[in-house]
Amino acid sequence: LNFKTIRDARLFLIVRPAFDVDSFVRFLTSAAETWSRTDIATPAENIVEVAGRVCYMSFGDRQSPRTNSQYISRLIEQGHESVLEHVSWSFILTGVTRSFTHQFVRHRVGFAFSQVSQQYRDQSDAAVIEPLRVSEEASLSKAWRAAIEQSAQTYRALLRLMESMPDTIAPSQNRREFDRRIRSAARSVLPEAVETTIVFTANARAIRHFLEIRGGILGDDEMRIVSALILETLLPEAPALFSDFTIEQAGGLPLVKRVQVAHAEVNRKP
Ligand SMILES: Cc1cc2nc3c(=O)[nH]c(=O)nc-3n(C[C@H](O)[C@H](O)[C@H](O)COP(=O)(O)OP(=O)(O)OC[C@H]3O[C@@H](n4cnc5c(N)ncnc54)[C@H](O)[C@@H]3O)c2cc1C
Repeated sequence: LNFKTIRDARLFLIVRPAFDVDSFVRFLTSAAETWSRTDIATPAENIVEVAGRVCYMSFGDRQSPRTNSQYISRLIEQGHESVLEHVSWSFILTGVTRSFTHQFVRHRVGFAFSQVSQQYRDQSDAAVIEPLRVSEEASLSKAWRAAIEQSAQTYRALLRLMESMPDTIAPSQNRREFDRRIRSAARSVLPEAVETTIVFTANARAIRHFLEIRGGILGDDEMRIVSALILETLLPEAPALFSDFTIEQAGGLPLVKRVQVAHAEVNRKP
């Protein structure tokens, strides 16, 4: 079996917001308005700012001297957060457990998920992810691995047995549904530690909510690691949208916390 730990989780950012400045300027021209960009903002940050400004048409003379960061900070302070829903990112998250994704997909609002299927994919060679609390102690690890090996063997044995037994679905007639049936039955012995891969798309408001309620749960190692991966990935993408979150270290693992900092202090890489 391929044993991993939750430190092997990997996050790949595959889609990011694109701001069509030319098109936006055409809109402004059609409305006889102008916009002075007051900061070096990323596409995501610009989209949020212009969405907010369109609400009040605060362009031209009505534009306050606030920077993009200050503007976004004020939107958040005021609770005008639907504006943050205009920007979203898509990721592939891999090296996480099925138990993690069971919790993850509970986030209903502003998230979309597509996950590897255990009905279409034979799980005989699936990797398993050892909890850190187990892997840091040899006696725990030994007992844990024995149980995991046992369930993997039972999974493979069940598939073999069902393959050769008569079934209400004839494999020669409908291989796909036959496989679905036997894999569904066999997977019931798989542990929650089985590795999975999930594609997810989420908007900035939903991600902020996720980080706030999930990132700082001291006893949830996997949530902490994934939350930190998301925050690390998004901070350069949109510092004004996420720099009120910080990553602390506790017990050798990251802990995401929301701190109140003025967005005006956002540090941008040149
Ligand atoms: C510490 C902790 C312990 C937990 N323990 C358990 C547990 O024991 N059992 C369990 O089943 N789950 C548990 N959960 C999961 C939790 O109940 C939520 O399902 C999950 O965190 C998703 O959060 P959410 O509903 O805020 O997110 P989303 O579904 O993304 O919703 C975002 C926000 O939209 C609003 N919203 C969404 N849907 C509705 C609605 N139908 N009506 C009104 N407002 C809505 C709410 O303001 C909500 O916060 C736990 C979560 C945490 C953080």
